[in-house]
This record gives sequence, C-alpha cells and structure tokens, in this order.
Amino acid sequence: MRDSRYDILFQPMQIGPVTAKNRFYQVPHCNGGGYRDPSAAAEMRGIKAEGGWGVIFTEQCEMHHTSEITPFIELRLWEDKDIPQLRQMSEKMKTHGGLAGIQLAYSGINGPNLYSKEVPLAPSPLPIRTFTNDPVQARGLSKTEIRDLRRWFVNAAKRSKLAGFDLICLYGAHGFGIFQHFLSRATNQRSDEYGGSLENRSRFVNEVIADMRDAVGDSMGITLRVSLDETIGELGFSNSELRDFIEMNRDLPDLWDLAQGTWEDCSGPSRFKEEAAQEQLVRGIRDLTDKPVVGVGRFTSADTMARMIKSGTLDFIGCARPSIADPFLPRKIEEGRIEDIRECIGCNICITGDMTMSISRCTQNPTFMEEWRKGWHPEKMNAKGDSENVLIVGSGPAGLEAARALALRGYDVAIAEAGTALGGRVARERKLPGLSAWGRVVEYREYQLSQRANVETYFDSRLTAEDIMEFGFQNVAIATGATWRRDGVSRQHVVPMPMADGAKVFTPDDLMDGRVPGGNVVIYDDDHYYMGGVLAELLIQQGAKVTLITPSAFVSDWTNNTLEQATIHARLDEMGVDIVLNRGVTRIEADHVVSNCVYTGKTRNYAADAVVMVASRSGNDQLYQDLVARQGDWADAGIRSVKLFGDAEAPGPIAWATYAGHRFARELDGADIGDGLPFRREITELAAE
Ligand code: ADP
Ligand code: SF4
Repeated sequence: MRDSRYDILFQPMQIGPVTAKNRFYQVPHCNGGGYRDPSAAAEMRGIKAEGGWGVIFTEQCEMHHTSEITPFIELRLWEDKDIPQLRQMSEKMKTHGGLAGIQLAYSGINGPNLYSKEVPLAPSPLPIRTFTNDPVQARGLSKTEIRDLRRWFVNAAKRSKLAGFDLICLYGAHGFGIFQHFLSRATNQRSDEYGGSLENRSRFVNEVIADMRDAVGDSMGITLRVSLDETIGELGFSNSELRDFIEMNRDLPDLWDLAQGTWEDCSGPSRFKEEAAQEQLVRGIRDLTDKPVVGVGRFTSADTMARMIKSGTLDFIGCARPSIADPFLPRKIEEGRIEDIRECIGCNICITGDMTMSISRCTQNPTFMEEWRKGWHPEKMNAKGDSENVLIVGSGPAGLEAARALALRGYDVAIAEAGTALGGRVARERKLPGLSAWGRVVEYREYQLSQRANVETYFDSRLTAEDIMEFGFQNVAIATGATWRRDGVSRQHVVPMPMADGAKVFTPDDLMDGRVPGGNVVIYDDDHYYMGGVLAELLIQQGAKVTLITPSAFVSDWTNNTLEQATIHARLDEMGVDIVLNRGVTRIEADHVVSNCVYTGKTRNYAADAVVMVASRSGNDQLYQDLVARQGDWADAGIRSVKLFGDAEAPGPIAWATYAGHRFARELDGADIGDGLPFRREITELAAE
C-alpha cells in the first residue's frame, strides 16, 4: 500500500521517556476556540489522532494567571478546575496511539493581562509587545519571583500530568514565550546571573527544565520550542546564537522544536513563502545535539518530508496548517493515497479565527472546528437522503465543494459551468502574482470528482431558468459567483461614486480577463483584503505607474489577520507603488481622481489615466431570482429544492464559499431545524456560590 520511499516517515522515535509511533508531529496551533469552546477544540484534536499523527499538541496553554494574552482565546491551566477540559483533549489525542502534548506558555513581555489585571512580569521592564500596542508595561522579575515562576512551571507540569499528557512543550518562540525573552538580549537586559552572557541568559530555561524533570520527567517528555532567528538584527536571538545555545545545552530538552522568529515569519503565506522555507535556518542544527529535532515549513509533499528526514535535517515533520487542511495526511501517505491529500494553500485564513477571536475555519477543509459543533468529519459524509440528484450551476469553490461532498453522500451530481474550465474565481485568481498555490482548491476537488462515477460535468453551459425547468433535476444548487462592481459602492460610498464622462474605470474582473490599463493608474481599495495589493503588483509588473489609495490606515488592512500586512506593504513599497493611506476617492475625472482625507475631508487630486475599482462585489443571483419567480411551476418540473449559496448569495473570501458548498451538501434532504441553533456550543457553568 505505502510507497517504500516513505517508510522512514513511519519509524517510531523516542522523545525522552515516551515513544512516538511515527514522524508526523502536529505542532501547537491556535484555533480561535480554546477555553471558550473546549469540546470543539478537543474533537478537532481527536480527528488528528484518527488521521494518524504520531504527536499531537494543544495550542498555547496559559500556565499561570499572572501572564495571559486576552483578547486572544487559547487554553488555560490556572488551577485544578482547568484539568477536566484539558483531560478531555488529551484523551481524544491518544485514541489512536498518538502522543498527547501540551504547550505551556508564560507570555512575559507578550502578555498584557487585560483580563487578570495582574502587573505583567518579564525578565526586564519594557512595554508589552502585542499586535495591539497595549499601553501596558511589564515589571522586571525579582529573583524571588524567578523562584516563584519556576515553582509555577512545576505546578503546571504536575497538572499537565494529571490531565493525561505525555509531552510538555515549553514555549520560547515567535516572541511569545518567556524562555525566548530570557534568551534574547533585546528583552533580557538584566545585570544579575540571569542576564548578560549567553550562559547567564540560558540559566532560567536550564533551571525550569531541571525542576520539571524532577517533578514529571520519569513519565513525560519535555520539549523546548525556540525561535530559529528573532529577526530583529544584532540585539536579537540570532540563528548563530541559537546554534551556540543548542551546542552549549546539547541535551537540555528531550526534543528541540524549532520555529521561525516571529509568528508572521513562521506562518508565512504561500504568497511570500515556499514549502520548507526554513530549511537553511534549520540545516546543521541536528548535528549539535543528541536529541531529536522537529521543524515546520508548511510541508504538504511526502517527498519533501522524506527528504528532510533522510538528509538528517529533521527527525520529526512539524505541521500546523497542513494538518488543518488535511488531518488525515499521515494516513493517506500510509495507505498510498498521496493524490487524495488536501494540500494547504497557504492562505492563512485559519489564523484569522484566532486573530479575530471568533473560531477558525480553513479554505481547504470546511469541517475544521466543526467536528464537534456540527459533527462534521473531514473524510466522511452523512448518508444520502431521500432525493436522488442535484444540478449544481457554477463550478467555483462553492459549487465544486458541494459537488465533491454530495457525490460522497451518493447523490447523482451534474455540474453546469458557463466557462470552459472548473474553478470559477479560483481559476482566475490563481494566475495573479503570488496566488498560484491557491489553485489547489480546484486541483484537489477536480481529482476527487474525476474518481467518482456519479458526477457529470458540462462546460460551455450558461444555464437559464428555462433550461433548468426543462432538465428535471430534483435539487438545484445555484453557485454562480459574484462580479466586482464598477460603481465604487462599498464602505465609503454606499451609493454609486460620481464619475465624469470619459473616466476610465476598470474592475478586478477586467484585469483578470487581460484588460490591464497602463500609464498613471490609481487603485482605489475599499475592499481591504488581498485584491488591491495583488493588483498593484500585477500593474507594476506590466509597466504601469501605480498609486494605491485606501481609506484605511493600512494597505490590505484585513491581511493583518492573515499575518501578511507588513510584508505586503514592504513588497508594494519596494516595487514603487505610491501608497496613500487614510484617504478616500470622492470623484473620478477623465485624467485624475479627487481624494479626501477621511478625518478632515480636505481634498487633493491624483493624476489617473485609469482607475482600478477594488470596492465590493455583487452576487450573480439573477438565475436564482428567475427560478424563484417560477416557484409555482417547480413541482410540475420535478424540482424539490432550489438553493443559492457561496459568492452568489453573499460575496466573501474563498473559505466562505467552500464552507457554504459543504454546508449545502451536508444539509440537503435534512430535517428542518426551524428556529433552532445550527451548531452545538458550550456556555460557562455558573459557579456554585
Ligand atoms: P463561488 O466562489 O461562490 O464558488 P465563483 O465566482 O468562483 O463562485 O464561481 C461561479 C462560477 O459559476 C463561475 O465559474 C461562472 O462561470 C459560473 N456561472 C455563473 N453563471 C452561470 C450560469 N448561469 N450557468 C452556468 N455557470 C454559471
Ligand atoms: Fe492552509 Fe489556508 Fe487551510 Fe490555513 S486556512 S490550513 S493556510 S488552506
């Protein structure tokens, strides 16, 4: 079944006193659910166990109330009361022989303590470093408090053991964990035995690990997650200093977990980072230690994984996003089903669930974080209902996911597509600068559909309501997508923007169709996700002089949530895009736009031979409306249901479309839940007194 080239990925390996059954290591990752949605988070980890991961970690778990990162929702282990919800998670992790790991975090200079209202403690007194520049500073830890902190780690380790975990990861990466704050000269400016030389800066982590070994080391493996390079120049904990540190402390943890400096670097999107992007920073570290090494790199290719191990670069293949997009990745490699792997596209939508404190979703895997809430399994669908067939109009991400999931349920599925290829918006957007990996949304589904006898695809088939009424399908699914608006309606303008005769206005659809303006081009971005920035790159590549005007304080503002915003700004600036922030456009003339300051309203003109309008989109719902107008004839035509979903219903990111398609497929022929809540949730239990 399994290709022998991948045997090496299935060799067991020891981590201290415990043994992992294979080399697939799900590194800690957030999910936006955390302590608020404990059963949802636990079930998600349980699915990874079923999918074959040898090691499965929690997200970061705040191990003491004096350091927490509200508003972000992670896990907490502050008192014994927290143990049952963590035990539920560890038990799910261990269901298929995987090791259960807990990541203990003391956030130090990264924890503003907005909830606990405690004064933050860090190696040195400095302002708290968060995404939101909270006006809070940390106090430097006294030596007594360092002893307290060591005891708190031991308490957390003992509780972790009681909660059933096999492994503890001490968090010292991404700028988020106190071990890094001690190791780095930037955040450790102490003059006592805990600061100064590398040996001194290493003292705290040595003490904590020694304490933990005494307390739980006979039965639990202790891993240390450190940054490969703090990437803040000379003062920071650099890659060469990390190598010195590991060499000096060869056998300190039972495993070295190597992550890149900032979270933005470590979870780089495919727009800016390739698979295995950290290889150079990791190579050679394994020779400095006798302990196993895990590293990440958005690994989705079994060949790359095997190469990492065979070349002696890594012992374990660390995955967060690839394990989200396909929790069954290890099992698919083991069963020789490489082509069934649902590869992560590197869009970082999963991270937005954490950043917006909502709950995560995944573009490729719509069941992520719905395993418990909705009972959705990533590989299995519910049984077929009592109707037989479905016509899906439109083959974008919504239509394709609906078709895949309905075919799995056993329905006869017909896809009608107006164009000549599958994929809708993804087929177009994947050709834009940096977005080629997004094409995996189509490739995965196209292959899955090709393997099923109960799916027919019809191209060049722009259907009308008339056509559909004649076909006689029982269920009609309208996933006809959306069209970018030319009239500027979005947030600044809720009615069309004034435009002079002769103004040349293009939409993203025009550019994707190959109609690319030249000369002085103004991009007006009132959409705020990736499209404005990506089109700026496209226009520059094609020789235009580009001014990007946005009412926001940030270019591609919402990409702060996908950890890309700073990189996008830098990229556009380097390419020569004139970035104009905090300004709108009030009127488009033939050779310029009138721009207003969003605060004062003061206007200024910008030369523009053409304007690219990245405003909002309109759902293409005419076909649906035409069918609704003929609802009285449905029964005679044999139609039982007509449903509109995806961008045609309400435009959104691609992940919203795959979710909508999946949901439609799950719910077809299902019971009407009326006014009921369509998912399970947990609410806080009232205290006894
Ligand atoms: P979504 O993101 O919701 O899946 P897309 O815009 O990506 O939507 O895809 C919609 C697809 O529907 C496009 O490929 C488009 O060609 C197709 N389409 C739109 N109208 C019709 C129609 N009347 N008949 C068949 N296909 C259509
Ligand atoms: Fe990968 Fe995007 Fe899914 Fe995250 S949301 S796991 S980046 S496909």
